[in-house]
Amino acid sequence: ALTEKLSRLAKELRGQARITEANVQDMLREVRLALLEADVALPVVRDFIARVKDKAMGQEVLGSLSPGQALVGIVNRELAATMGEGVSDINLAAQPPAVILMAGLQGAGKTTTTAKLAKYLIEKRKKKVLTVSGDVYRPAAIEQLKTVTGQAGAEWFPSSPEQKPVDIARAAVDFARRQYFDVLLVDTAGRLAVDEAMMREIRELHAALNPVETLFVVDAMQGQDAINTAKAFKEALPLTGIILTKMDGDSRGGAALSVRQVTGAPIKFAGVSEKIDGLEVFDAERHAGRILGMGDIVALVEQVTAGVDVQAAQRLAAKVKTGEFDLNDFLAQIQQMKQMGGLSSLMEKLPAQMTAKAGNVDMAKAERDIRRKEGIINSMTPLERRKPELIKATRKRRIATGAGVQVQEVNRLLNEFEQMQGMMKKMKGGGLMKMMKRMGG
Ligand code: GDP
Ligand code: MG
Repeated sequence: ALTEKLSRLAKELRGQARITEANVQDMLREVRLALLEADVALPVVRDFIARVKDKAMGQEVLGSLSPGQALVGIVNRELAATMGEGVSDINLAAQPPAVILMAGLQGAGKTTTTAKLAKYLIEKRKKKVLTVSGDVYRPAAIEQLKTVTGQAGAEWFPSSPEQKPVDIARAAVDFARRQYFDVLLVDTAGRLAVDEAMMREIRELHAALNPVETLFVVDAMQGQDAINTAKAFKEALPLTGIILTKMDGDSRGGAALSVRQVTGAPIKFAGVSEKIDGLEVFDAERHAGRILGMGDIVALVEQVTAGVDVQAAQRLAAKVKTGEFDLNDFLAQIQQMKQMGGLSSLMEKLPAQMTAKAGNVDMAKAERDIRRKEGIINSMTPLERRKPELIKATRKRRIATGAGVQVQEVNRLLNEFEQMQGMMKKMKGGGLMKMMKRMGG
């Protein structure tokens, strides 16, 4: 919906060469709503909008872009830059064992993520990894860590509900050192809401362990409240990174921006399933698109703008007007498609809602079809392309042989072309021209 609104506004603003206070007001209001809909916390939204406005004001609008399109670009880049700032891999630069402390509310995904990280560190960083649970309040939690640690192929240090978390942690460090583990992951207890006892305990753990990473695990579905949780943890601990879990849910993930802004810590990973391999390195650009609710639509717009030869589009529109659309134009369209990176790369950039609808289309097959069509048209003479009605049986056989396909396939292409030609004749009015203009900016 945002894209629709923005493109409507963008149209109104076309022709203006500069971003000004007057022409961005409406645009910024839409962006603000989009951020709030994505559950970015209100103070963070205000701050972000002010920053974008500062950056945008007075900026020249390049070439064929309208101020609106330029602003969408600025918003998207600023979102990605904010969330992607300072991102780095897990830091293991410490006298082994490098200790990683996991912090966060109950249910955020600490235990699951501990195991996912263990697997990541074993497979990607070739480390020897030990885990230990300091969650002594729920005996099941210690067992849970044991199970998932086994799935990760890491080792687990036993603890029991009778011990104090600090003593457990010290014993684990000691064991890890003697057994030459590279990394010790310390899972901790969380509460359903921030409380003083929990904060005191994790501060004590932090002081005893001197971890090289203190990771704040936060549920991406938490929404507006994430900002308060993040504040409390930041006040208690020197956080070195954030892991956003449950990104496979349908939230727009605005929590990412709130938590990033409030803690100042980089977002390192995203949890994308309950399974042990459901951990991905955080991709700020992709996430910016998700927050704005348009997939990578901004990148797509840029790509389309770059890929469409505006003059060629205008020539085409003129031909359609006079009913001259021929196979050369058909070929040009096919080639334009290829220039834009092909169907599957186009599909990847569309928002999930759209791609879901096209879910049962076989992309690889569709791309093969396009290449075959191109091959067939390439096997025609210039005259045949201009006057397809000349293509009778003999010519069809020659073309089919040249393209290495069956005659039926040449027939199919000619039928398709005829249908398209008919459609384009009907569009003769302003329809196509408008469409091209919109694409060309
Ligand atoms: P903890 O209380 O912080 O230790 O949270 P848990 O690790 O026990 O996770 C709580 C619930 O969230 C469990 O049912 C997990 O399977 C689930 N969970 C954790 N991370 C993810 C994720 O990235 N995606 C999904 N879908 N579920 C997750
Ligand atoms: Mg747990």
